Amino acid sequence: MKPIETEKIALLDRMFAKASKVVLTAHMGPDGDAVGSTTALAAYLEKKGKKVKIILPDPVPDSLAFIINGFEDRVIIGKTELETCRKAVGECDLQISLDYNGFKRTGILEDILSASNAEKLLIDHHLNPETESFSLVFSETEVSSACELLFHILMALPDVGGDSRRLPARTADALMTGMTTDTNNFANSVYPSTLQMASSLLAAGVDRDAILANLYNRYRETRLRLMGIALKDLMKITPDGVAYIVLRKDLLEEYDVREGETEGFVNMPLALDKVRMSILLKEEDDHFRVSIRSKEGVSANRCSGLYFNGGGHERAAGGRLYVPKDIATYDEAESYIEKVTHSFFE
Ligand code: 5GP
Ligand code: MN
Repeated sequence: MKPIETEKIALLDRMFAKASKVVLTAHMGPDGDAVGSTTALAAYLEKKGKKVKIILPDPVPDSLAFIINGFEDRVIIGKTELETCRKAVGECDLQISLDYNGFKRTGILEDILSASNAEKLLIDHHLNPETESFSLVFSETEVSSACELLFHILMALPDVGGDSRRLPARTADALMTGMTTDTNNFANSVYPSTLQMASSLLAAGVDRDAILANLYNRYRETRLRLMGIALKDLMKITPDGVAYIVLRKDLLEEYDVREGETEGFVNMPLALDKVRMSILLKEEDDHFRVSIRSKEGVSANRCSGLYFNGGGHERAAGGRLYVPKDIATYDEAESYIEKVTHSFFE
Protein backbone atom coordinates (compact mmCIF):
# COMPACT_ATOMS: atom_id res chain seq x y z
CA MET A 1 0.00 0.00 0.00
CA LYS A 2 1.01 3.63 -0.45
CA PRO A 3 2.22 5.37 2.71
CA ILE A 4 -0.63 7.24 4.40
CA GLU A 5 -0.11 11.00 4.12
CA THR A 6 0.72 12.61 7.45
CA GLU A 7 -1.43 15.67 6.62
CA LYS A 8 -4.47 13.42 6.24
CA ILE A 9 -3.74 11.72 9.54
CA ALA A 10 -3.56 15.15 11.18
CA LEU A 11 -6.92 16.07 9.62
CA LEU A 12 -8.42 12.81 10.85
CA ASP A 13 -7.03 13.32 14.34
CA ARG A 14 -8.72 16.74 14.46
CA MET A 15 -11.95 15.30 13.05
CA PHE A 16 -12.01 12.66 15.82
CA ALA A 17 -11.13 15.26 18.49
CA LYS A 18 -14.04 17.51 17.44
CA ALA A 19 -16.67 14.75 17.22
CA SER A 20 -18.85 13.72 20.13
CA LYS A 21 -21.53 11.53 18.52
CA VAL A 22 -20.30 9.20 15.81
CA VAL A 23 -22.24 6.94 13.45
CA LEU A 24 -20.34 4.12 11.71
CA THR A 25 -21.86 2.43 8.67
CA ALA A 26 -21.12 -0.47 6.32
CA HIS A 27 -22.65 -2.11 3.23
CA MET A 28 -25.76 -4.23 2.63
CA GLY A 29 -25.40 -7.86 3.61
CA PRO A 30 -22.53 -7.06 5.98
CA ASP A 31 -19.60 -9.49 5.83
CA GLY A 32 -16.69 -10.01 8.21
CA ASP A 33 -14.81 -6.97 6.94
CA ALA A 34 -17.88 -4.73 7.24
CA VAL A 35 -18.77 -5.86 10.77
CA GLY A 36 -15.10 -6.05 11.78
CA SER A 37 -14.11 -2.58 10.58
CA THR A 38 -17.14 -0.79 12.05
CA THR A 39 -16.79 -2.61 15.37
CA ALA A 40 -13.03 -1.99 15.51
CA LEU A 41 -13.32 1.74 14.94
CA ALA A 42 -16.38 2.09 17.20
CA ALA A 43 -14.50 0.45 20.09
CA TYR A 44 -11.50 2.73 19.51
CA LEU A 45 -13.65 5.88 19.43
CA GLU A 46 -15.66 4.78 22.45
CA LYS A 47 -12.44 4.46 24.42
CA LYS A 48 -11.74 8.07 23.45
CA GLY A 49 -15.04 9.05 25.07
CA LYS A 50 -17.23 9.31 21.97
CA LYS A 51 -20.83 8.13 21.81
CA VAL A 52 -20.90 5.57 18.99
CA LYS A 53 -23.60 3.84 16.95
CA ILE A 54 -22.98 1.23 14.27
CA ILE A 55 -25.68 1.39 11.62
CA LEU A 56 -25.98 -1.53 9.22
CA PRO A 57 -28.57 -1.94 6.45
CA ASP A 58 -29.07 -5.65 7.26
CA PRO A 59 -28.60 -7.77 10.39
CA VAL A 60 -25.22 -9.22 11.38
CA PRO A 61 -25.30 -12.89 10.27
CA ASP A 62 -25.33 -15.38 13.18
CA SER A 63 -21.96 -16.68 12.00
CA LEU A 64 -20.40 -13.23 12.64
CA ALA A 65 -22.29 -12.35 15.82
CA PHE A 66 -19.22 -13.19 17.92
CA ILE A 67 -17.55 -9.98 16.64
CA ILE A 68 -20.15 -7.79 18.37
CA ASN A 69 -20.68 -10.06 21.37
CA GLY A 70 -21.20 -7.74 24.36
CA PHE A 71 -21.31 -4.71 22.06
CA GLU A 72 -24.77 -5.33 20.57
CA ASP A 73 -26.40 -2.27 22.12
CA ARG A 74 -24.30 -0.01 19.88
CA VAL A 75 -25.68 -1.68 16.73
CA ILE A 76 -28.83 -0.52 14.87
CA ILE A 77 -30.23 -2.36 11.85
CA GLY A 78 -31.84 -0.41 9.00
CA LYS A 79 -34.08 -3.23 7.89
CA THR A 80 -35.84 -3.47 11.26
CA GLU A 81 -35.13 -0.10 12.93
CA LEU A 82 -35.08 2.47 10.16
CA GLU A 83 -36.47 5.33 12.25
CA THR A 84 -33.90 4.73 15.00
CA CYS A 85 -31.20 4.85 12.30
CA ARG A 86 -32.61 8.12 10.95
CA LYS A 87 -32.57 9.64 14.44
CA ALA A 88 -29.00 8.51 15.18
CA VAL A 89 -27.76 9.89 11.86
CA GLY A 90 -29.65 13.17 12.47
CA GLU A 91 -27.99 13.57 15.87
CA CYS A 92 -24.42 12.62 14.98
CA ASP A 93 -21.66 15.07 14.11
CA LEU A 94 -19.43 12.53 12.35
CA GLN A 95 -20.59 9.85 9.94
CA ILE A 96 -18.07 7.19 8.95
CA SER A 97 -18.37 4.85 5.96
CA LEU A 98 -16.33 1.66 6.07
CA ASP A 99 -15.86 -1.10 3.47
CA TYR A 100 -17.98 0.43 0.69
CA ASN A 101 -17.34 3.00 -2.02
CA GLY A 102 -20.64 4.91 -2.30
CA PHE A 103 -23.93 5.33 -0.44
CA LYS A 104 -25.77 3.25 -3.06
CA ARG A 105 -24.15 0.20 -1.42
CA THR A 106 -26.07 0.89 1.81
CA GLY A 107 -29.44 0.16 0.13
CA ILE A 108 -32.25 1.14 2.46
CA LEU A 109 -29.96 3.65 4.25
CA GLU A 110 -28.78 5.42 1.09
CA ASP A 111 -31.05 8.47 1.33
CA ILE A 112 -30.54 8.97 5.07
CA LEU A 113 -26.74 8.74 4.86
CA SER A 114 -26.30 10.90 1.76
CA ALA A 115 -28.62 13.64 3.08
CA SER A 116 -26.99 13.95 6.52
CA ASN A 117 -25.29 17.22 7.51
CA ALA A 118 -22.58 15.53 9.57
CA GLU A 119 -18.92 15.47 8.53
CA LYS A 120 -18.45 12.43 6.31
CA LEU A 121 -15.40 10.17 6.41
CA LEU A 122 -14.71 7.27 4.03
CA ILE A 123 -12.29 4.42 4.78
CA ASP A 124 -12.49 1.85 1.98
CA HIS A 125 -10.59 -0.54 -0.27
CA HIS A 126 -12.95 -0.89 -3.27
CA LEU A 127 -12.39 0.43 -6.80
CA ASN A 128 -14.05 3.70 -7.89
CA PRO A 129 -14.80 5.45 -4.57
CA GLU A 130 -17.37 8.26 -4.76
CA THR A 131 -14.97 10.77 -3.25
CA GLU A 132 -17.24 13.79 -3.86
CA SER A 133 -19.73 12.52 -1.23
CA PHE A 134 -17.19 12.76 1.62
CA SER A 135 -15.24 15.44 3.48
CA LEU A 136 -12.24 13.15 4.05
CA VAL A 137 -11.36 10.01 2.09
CA PHE A 138 -8.95 7.16 2.81
CA SER A 139 -9.18 4.92 -0.24
CA GLU A 140 -6.57 2.26 -0.98
CA THR A 141 -7.10 -0.78 -3.18
CA GLU A 142 -3.67 -2.33 -2.57
CA VAL A 143 -4.68 -3.76 0.80
CA SER A 144 -6.48 -6.92 1.81
CA SER A 145 -9.45 -5.30 3.46
CA ALA A 146 -11.02 -2.23 5.01
CA CYS A 147 -9.85 -3.69 8.34
CA GLU A 148 -6.26 -3.61 7.14
CA LEU A 149 -6.49 -0.02 5.90
CA LEU A 150 -8.11 0.99 9.19
CA PHE A 151 -5.34 -0.77 11.13
CA HIS A 152 -2.64 1.25 9.34
CA ILE A 153 -4.60 4.48 9.85
CA LEU A 154 -5.08 3.81 13.58
CA MET A 155 -1.41 2.94 13.98
CA ALA A 156 -0.49 6.31 12.44
CA LEU A 157 -2.64 8.30 14.88
CA PRO A 158 -0.67 10.03 17.67
CA ASP A 159 -2.38 8.25 20.57
CA VAL A 160 -1.56 4.79 19.15
CA GLY A 161 1.86 5.89 17.90
CA GLY A 162 2.63 2.68 16.03
CA ASP A 163 2.11 0.48 19.08
CA SER A 164 -0.72 -1.98 18.45
CA ARG A 165 -0.82 -2.84 22.17
CA ARG A 166 -2.48 0.56 22.66
CA LEU A 167 -5.50 -0.55 20.62
CA PRO A 168 -8.50 -1.73 22.63
CA ALA A 169 -8.69 -5.56 22.63
CA ARG A 170 -12.02 -5.49 20.77
CA THR A 171 -10.48 -3.30 18.08
CA ALA A 172 -7.51 -5.62 17.60
CA ASP A 173 -9.71 -8.74 17.50
CA ALA A 174 -12.21 -7.24 15.06
CA LEU A 175 -9.45 -6.02 12.74
CA MET A 176 -7.84 -9.46 12.62
CA THR A 177 -11.25 -11.06 12.00
CA GLY A 178 -12.23 -8.82 9.06
CA MET A 179 -8.83 -9.17 7.43
CA THR A 180 -9.07 -12.95 7.81
CA THR A 181 -12.48 -13.19 6.11
CA ASP A 182 -11.64 -10.79 3.26
CA THR A 183 -8.43 -12.69 2.46
CA ASN A 184 -10.28 -15.99 2.80
CA ASN A 185 -7.84 -16.87 5.56
CA PHE A 186 -4.73 -15.58 3.74
CA ALA A 187 -5.62 -17.23 0.42
CA ASN A 188 -5.98 -13.98 -1.56
CA SER A 189 -5.29 -10.23 -1.56
CA VAL A 190 -2.36 -10.68 0.82
CA TYR A 191 0.23 -7.88 0.64
CA PRO A 192 3.40 -7.29 2.68
CA SER A 193 1.36 -4.76 4.66
CA THR A 194 -1.23 -7.48 5.41
CA LEU A 195 1.33 -9.75 7.02
CA GLN A 196 2.82 -6.80 8.91
CA MET A 197 -0.63 -6.12 10.33
CA ALA A 198 -1.16 -9.77 11.26
CA SER A 199 2.24 -9.94 12.91
CA SER A 200 1.66 -6.76 14.90
CA LEU A 201 -1.79 -7.86 16.07
CA LEU A 202 -0.53 -11.32 17.09
CA ALA A 203 2.25 -9.67 19.06
CA ALA A 204 -0.38 -7.48 20.73
CA GLY A 205 -2.12 -10.59 22.01
CA VAL A 206 -4.90 -11.30 19.51
CA ASP A 207 -6.06 -14.91 19.84
CA ARG A 208 -6.11 -16.01 16.20
CA ASP A 209 -6.98 -19.60 17.06
CA ALA A 210 -10.17 -18.42 18.76
CA ILE A 211 -11.05 -16.26 15.75
CA LEU A 212 -10.50 -19.17 13.35
CA ALA A 213 -12.60 -21.47 15.51
CA ASN A 214 -15.43 -18.91 15.50
CA LEU A 215 -15.20 -18.34 11.75
CA TYR A 216 -14.60 -21.79 10.35
CA ASN A 217 -15.45 -24.49 12.86
CA ARG A 218 -18.92 -23.59 14.00
CA TYR A 219 -21.13 -24.14 10.97
CA ARG A 220 -24.41 -26.01 11.03
CA GLU A 221 -24.49 -29.39 9.31
CA THR A 222 -26.84 -28.11 6.59
CA ARG A 223 -24.08 -25.92 5.15
CA LEU A 224 -21.83 -28.88 4.37
CA ARG A 225 -24.72 -30.96 3.03
CA LEU A 226 -25.75 -28.13 0.70
CA MET A 227 -22.13 -27.58 -0.36
CA GLY A 228 -22.02 -31.25 -1.37
CA ILE A 229 -25.10 -30.86 -3.55
CA ALA A 230 -23.85 -27.61 -5.02
CA LEU A 231 -20.59 -29.22 -6.14
CA LYS A 232 -21.99 -32.59 -7.17
CA ASP A 233 -25.24 -31.62 -8.88
CA LEU A 234 -25.46 -27.89 -9.47
CA MET A 235 -22.03 -26.71 -10.61
CA LYS A 236 -21.79 -26.28 -14.39
CA ILE A 237 -18.61 -25.49 -16.30
CA THR A 238 -18.75 -23.76 -19.68
CA PRO A 239 -16.22 -24.33 -22.49
CA ASP A 240 -14.86 -20.82 -21.68
CA GLY A 241 -13.83 -22.02 -18.22
CA VAL A 242 -16.64 -20.37 -16.31
CA ALA A 243 -18.02 -22.37 -13.40
CA TYR A 244 -21.41 -21.35 -12.09
CA ILE A 245 -23.80 -22.49 -9.39
CA VAL A 246 -27.41 -21.30 -9.18
CA LEU A 247 -29.03 -21.74 -5.77
CA ARG A 248 -32.80 -21.59 -6.11
CA LYS A 249 -35.17 -20.59 -3.35
CA ASP A 250 -36.77 -24.03 -2.87
CA LEU A 251 -33.38 -25.58 -2.16
CA LEU A 252 -32.31 -22.71 0.12
CA GLU A 253 -35.51 -23.24 2.08
CA GLU A 254 -35.15 -27.01 2.15
CA TYR A 255 -31.71 -26.58 3.72
CA ASP A 256 -32.89 -23.72 5.94
CA VAL A 257 -30.00 -21.58 4.67
CA ARG A 258 -29.40 -18.48 6.74
CA GLU A 259 -27.58 -15.28 5.85
CA GLY A 260 -23.84 -15.90 5.47
CA GLU A 261 -24.13 -19.69 5.35
CA THR A 262 -23.08 -19.98 1.70
CA GLU A 263 -20.00 -17.81 2.30
CA GLY A 264 -17.03 -19.32 0.47
CA PHE A 265 -19.04 -21.52 -1.95
CA VAL A 266 -18.05 -19.28 -4.86
CA ASN A 267 -14.33 -19.85 -4.24
CA MET A 268 -14.39 -23.61 -4.54
CA PRO A 269 -14.68 -24.06 -8.33
CA LEU A 270 -11.49 -22.00 -8.77
CA ALA A 271 -9.62 -25.05 -7.44
CA LEU A 272 -10.09 -26.59 -10.88
CA ASP A 273 -7.31 -25.97 -13.39
CA LYS A 274 -9.73 -25.29 -16.23
CA VAL A 275 -11.84 -22.75 -14.33
CA ARG A 276 -10.97 -19.07 -14.87
CA MET A 277 -13.98 -17.49 -13.25
CA SER A 278 -16.61 -18.68 -10.79
CA ILE A 279 -20.12 -17.27 -10.40
CA LEU A 280 -22.60 -18.02 -7.62
CA LEU A 281 -26.24 -16.97 -7.89
CA LYS A 282 -28.56 -17.02 -4.89
CA GLU A 283 -32.26 -16.46 -5.43
CA GLU A 284 -33.82 -13.65 -3.39
CA ASP A 285 -37.14 -11.83 -3.63
CA ASP A 286 -36.99 -10.00 -6.97
CA HIS A 287 -33.44 -10.83 -7.93
CA PHE A 288 -30.49 -13.18 -7.67
CA ARG A 289 -27.62 -12.07 -5.47
CA VAL A 290 -24.43 -12.58 -7.48
CA SER A 291 -20.88 -13.38 -6.33
CA ILE A 292 -17.98 -13.58 -8.77
CA ARG A 293 -14.38 -14.68 -8.23
CA SER A 294 -11.68 -14.93 -10.88
CA LYS A 295 -8.11 -15.95 -11.49
CA GLU A 296 -5.21 -13.69 -12.45
CA GLY A 297 -5.87 -11.80 -15.67
CA VAL A 298 -9.67 -12.08 -15.55
CA SER A 299 -11.67 -9.15 -14.17
CA ALA A 300 -14.53 -10.18 -11.92
CA ASN A 301 -15.14 -6.47 -11.35
CA ARG A 302 -15.65 -5.82 -15.08
CA CYS A 303 -17.87 -8.85 -15.54
CA SER A 304 -20.05 -7.77 -12.62
CA GLY A 305 -20.28 -4.21 -13.89
CA LEU A 306 -21.17 -5.29 -17.43
CA TYR A 307 -23.77 -7.96 -16.70
CA PHE A 308 -24.71 -8.07 -13.02
CA ASN A 309 -25.30 -4.45 -11.88
CA GLY A 310 -22.36 -4.54 -9.50
CA GLY A 311 -18.65 -4.31 -8.97
CA GLY A 312 -16.12 -4.68 -6.17
CA HIS A 313 -12.51 -5.70 -6.60
CA GLU A 314 -10.58 -6.90 -9.62
CA ARG A 315 -10.89 -10.59 -8.70
CA ALA A 316 -13.78 -10.59 -6.19
CA ALA A 317 -16.99 -8.81 -7.04
CA GLY A 318 -20.69 -8.95 -6.39
CA GLY A 319 -23.91 -7.69 -7.88
CA ARG A 320 -27.54 -8.48 -8.61
CA LEU A 321 -29.49 -9.97 -11.48
CA TYR A 322 -33.04 -8.63 -11.43
CA VAL A 323 -36.13 -10.63 -12.41
CA PRO A 324 -37.95 -9.69 -14.62
CA LYS A 325 -35.81 -6.63 -15.50
CA ASP A 326 -32.62 -8.42 -16.61
CA ILE A 327 -34.06 -11.88 -17.27
CA ALA A 328 -37.76 -12.67 -17.68
CA THR A 329 -37.90 -15.63 -15.27
CA TYR A 330 -35.66 -17.25 -12.65
CA ASP A 331 -35.29 -20.27 -14.95
CA GLU A 332 -33.37 -18.18 -17.45
CA ALA A 333 -30.44 -17.55 -15.10
CA GLU A 334 -28.29 -20.38 -16.43
CA SER A 335 -28.68 -19.50 -20.10
CA TYR A 336 -28.06 -15.81 -19.26
CA ILE A 337 -24.76 -16.67 -17.56
CA GLU A 338 -23.69 -18.88 -20.46
CA LYS A 339 -24.52 -16.16 -22.97
CA VAL A 340 -22.94 -13.16 -21.24
CA THR A 341 -19.79 -14.94 -20.10
CA HIS A 342 -19.25 -16.25 -23.61
CA SER A 343 -19.33 -12.73 -25.01
CA PHE A 344 -17.16 -11.59 -22.06
CA PHE A 345 -14.38 -13.98 -23.12
CA GLU A 346 -14.76 -13.41 -26.88
P1 5GP B 1 -19.33 -11.01 -2.18
O1 5GP B 1 -19.30 -11.87 -3.41
O2 5GP B 1 -18.48 -11.58 -1.10
O3 5GP B 1 -20.71 -10.64 -1.77
O4 5GP B 1 -18.67 -9.63 -2.61
C1 5GP B 1 -17.38 -9.58 -3.15
C2 5GP B 1 -16.90 -8.13 -3.18
O5 5GP B 1 -17.72 -7.36 -4.06
C3 5GP B 1 -17.01 -7.44 -1.82
O6 5GP B 1 -15.88 -6.61 -1.67
C4 5GP B 1 -18.25 -6.61 -1.91
O7 5GP B 1 -18.17 -5.46 -1.14
C5 5GP B 1 -18.35 -6.29 -3.39
N1 5GP B 1 -19.76 -6.26 -3.81
C6 5GP B 1 -20.71 -7.17 -3.52
N2 5GP B 1 -21.89 -6.85 -4.07
C7 5GP B 1 -21.69 -5.68 -4.71
C8 5GP B 1 -22.55 -4.80 -5.47
O8 5GP B 1 -23.74 -5.05 -5.67
N3 5GP B 1 -21.97 -3.68 -5.99
C9 5GP B 1 -20.65 -3.38 -5.81
N4 5GP B 1 -20.17 -2.26 -6.34
N5 5GP B 1 -19.83 -4.17 -5.10
C10 5GP B 1 -20.32 -5.31 -4.54
MN1 MN C 1 -14.00 -5.61 2.37
